[in-house]
Amino acid sequence: MALTIPDLYTGGLPPARPPIPDDHVQRWACRRCVVARTGWTLPVRVWACVHDEVCPRHNLWIGREVFTPEQQLDLTRTPDVIRAQRRYWRLRRRYGPTATDTCQEATSKLWSGLAHRHYRLNRRVELLHDLARVKGPEVAPDRTAPWRIAAGYPERVTLIGLFASAHWRRAVLNDDLLVVAQALAEFHRRFPLQTPLRGTSRTWLSTTIEATARQIEGLLNPSRGATASTAR
Ligand SMILES: [Zn+2]
Repeated sequence: MALTIPDLYTGGLPPARPPIPDDHVQRWACRRCVVARTGWTLPVRVWACVHDEVCPRHNLWIGREVFTPEQQLDLTRTPDVIRAQRRYWRLRRRYGPTATDTCQEATSKLWSGLAHRHYRLNRRVELLHDLARVKGPEVAPDRTAPWRIAAGYPERVTLIGLFASAHWRRAVLNDDLLVVAQALAEFHRRFPLQTPLRGTSRTWLSTTIEATARQIEGLLNPSRGATASTAR
């Protein structure tokens, strides 16, 4: 503004506004934070880090798929979603942003594939679904509420943590089949399927786990991944 109004222009450069980091997006501020800080109930838009999915003060889901402040789901009955947020930040500090982002992106296909093959989340889905707003007289659950994505968040973080471990990735890609079997057993221990996958789904899972580990290894350690990627 100083540059556009001559009287205000003092000759020096206008004070630089700190740049908005790449991992920030505009979204609704936690509705309870707004009330606590301002006393208002009017919704407020803010720049916020995309990795902050949960307001740790108020236990609300404030991240992805929240399109109105009312869609910020209360996570009080699903404390593992709140713990997953803390765990995510621990992973990010431990493995660094590059490795964490790489694993997050690379595992999204595996996660959506599991969901597509009826990987069933525990009671979290039902608990959060019950909280979803109901619309007018037809009492249909609000399909746009982020209950499903919030319910699966702990599993998403577990997947990232598993694939972020170079030790585990290399076990999956090992030539020794016993080592591979142990690594896959570790996967199944962390992702107990309520209904075991059969036939092509079973093959899909082990193939996708291996391909994902290879992809991440290739991106994070290109020299190691070069030989691995030719085998794909
Ligand atoms: Zn809050």
